[in-house]
Amino acid sequence: MREVRLKVDLVPKGTHGRKVVRPMRPRYITIHSTQNYTSGAERHSLALKRGALRSSKRRGGNRIGYLIWHFTVDEKKAIQHMPTSEQGEHADFGGPGNLYSIGIEMCEERGSNIGATVERTAKLTAVLMKHKGIPLKNVVPHYRWPRRGKTPANKNCPHFLLDNGKPGRKWRAFQRKINYYYKRLE
Ligand SMILES: [Zn+2]
Repeated sequence: MREVRLKVDLVPKGTHGRKVVRPMRPRYITIHSTQNYTSGAERHSLALKRGALRSSKRRGGNRIGYLIWHFTVDEKKAIQHMPTSEQGEHADFGGPGNLYSIGIEMCEERGSNIGATVERTAKLTAVLMKHKGIPLKNVVPHYRWPRRGKTPANKNCPHFLLDNGKPGRKWRAFQRKINYYYKRLE
């Protein structure tokens, strides 16, 4: 966990993405990438705290009018934005990805070391699996959760760990990495 370099900097309870607290017992971990090429973890944290990441609220879609997830990871650190005992709004609206999963966003700021970000994400994921009793098979790419009313329903996310938009060789290599760190915790 020391190697993850986690900073806890929560969006204040009752504001923006946490204006409604919806309890959660996490059964999955969902991995994303930000597709934002100008920001690292700190800027994402600030944006979440300022309520700048809005999404139109609609029936069957975003439930609160904001995006929110649990952790953002970059090449230097990880930042936690909300407790893992609360539901985020990062995956599939009212679907299982939001109802039961911890959301982790990987930064891909231009010029940053994506390899280091992926390594730190694997370490954080292994620690969360251990703490929450989540098996490796329940660590999934955002792709896994279809989004009603969106085309394509299954998003190419995290795009740099998928092959032709689907889990394949790169995703399996990432799973092996997580498993390596998980075993190291035993
Ligand atoms: Zn995603």
